[in-house]
Amino acid sequence: MEPLNTWRDDTRLTHGGRDPASHGGTVNTPVYRSSTFIWPSAETLPRYLRQADDPHLREHIYGRNGNPTTAAFEDAVAALEGGFRSLVMPSGLAAIAGTLLALVRGGDHVLVTDNCYGHARQVFDRVMREMGVEVSYFPPLLGADIAALMRPNTRLVYAEAPGSNTFEVQDIPALARAAHAGGALLVMDNTWATPLFFKPFVHGVDVSIQAATKYLVGHSDAMLGVITTTEALYSQVRDRVRLLGYIASADDAYLGLRGLRTLGVRLRQHQRSALAVARWLARRPEVLKVLHPALPDCPGHALFERDFLGASGLFGVVLRPIPEVALHAFLDSLRLFAQGASWGGFESLIRIAHGQRAFPDGLPPGHLLRLHVGLEAVDDLLADLDQAFAQARARHPDTDTQP
Ligand SMILES: *Cc1c(COP(=O)(O)O)cnc(C)c1O
Repeated sequence: MEPLNTWRDDTRLTHGGRDPASHGGTVNTPVYRSSTFIWPSAETLPRYLRQADDPHLREHIYGRNGNPTTAAFEDAVAALEGGFRSLVMPSGLAAIAGTLLALVRGGDHVLVTDNCYGHARQVFDRVMREMGVEVSYFPPLLGADIAALMRPNTRLVYAEAPGSNTFEVQDIPALARAAHAGGALLVMDNTWATPLFFKPFVHGVDVSIQAATKYLVGHSDAMLGVITTTEALYSQVRDRVRLLGYIASADDAYLGLRGLRTLGVRLRQHQRSALAVARWLARRPEVLKVLHPALPDCPGHALFERDFLGASGLFGVVLRPIPEVALHAFLDSLRLFAQGASWGGFESLIRIAHGQRAFPDGLPPGHLLRLHVGLEAVDDLLADLDQAFAQARARHPDTDTQP
């Protein structure tokens, strides 16, 4: 077989993390449910333990350090991200917390994008601050000017592009240059684009985080996270997250692997459908603003055009101010857009978005909603939104005219 790193992404998605010859010829890497691995003799244990320190060798010793299923998922993701190796984690949030606990100590300073995922913010505000870490938030569009915020003890810059809820796209290469010039690391949450649509290590990222719960698993049926690092950081991060007891089950890693097989076709369809819905919404009288990185209105759109290879299915929309009963009538009468947490599955979702912090000119006053456009027929989704707007209008006739 050709080395994974010379293939194009669609081939990596098809063949990564699979080795039928090692598994009785079966196409898929099986689920290895295992706590205990039997070693062949007394003299092998010390050798196994030594190998556990070598990132190139992986004898499986104990389930908490992984098993052949989790290792296959890690290999497949690392090749897509373009990093050295990946570490499977029990959730996206565990990947965030584990990365920070591996790299940051009391007395360090961290710079965090103001539009980061809400629970990441809580890790910074509660766990990191309690540890004696200095936490400062920076405006997401700051770019190279972040250099002015660097302190002698700045250990890392934490980025997310586009950011949660408000979708500003960050200048990742500029953040990487400034961080590295100040002796700091750049950590990025790459969940929105997935490694298919943004190549973090090409743009200077040191640690890339995926909430694999979203697009990688892709079917809303498992919690999973992945950390991918450069070679320089791998051992440090692996030792710490495994010492903290973070591991994912073989069943969930299997679902991650199975999700990867269709990630390319799913993501291209999410992209196409979400753009169609976003453009349709942008023309609606009820809508003040659509926040989709591929549309010129979105802050950081030029950076999206420069650095990203595509857009996924998640974006924001600001509705004109209407009474809550009309807003709830709109949401509750949708039949295809369900209201729920998470995103990245095959199904469409909508929710009121909270916690938006930074926006260059301020968001227009209205209702910020977050949509995930699933794999349903676009015309059915548009008809669903259309009839829900009619329900809102029935509750409040000025839905599309009030300033
Ligand atoms: C959902 C999400 C996470 C957390 O992932 P979980 O698997 O839910 O813990 C992290 N980052 C972003 C951007 C997310 O949307």
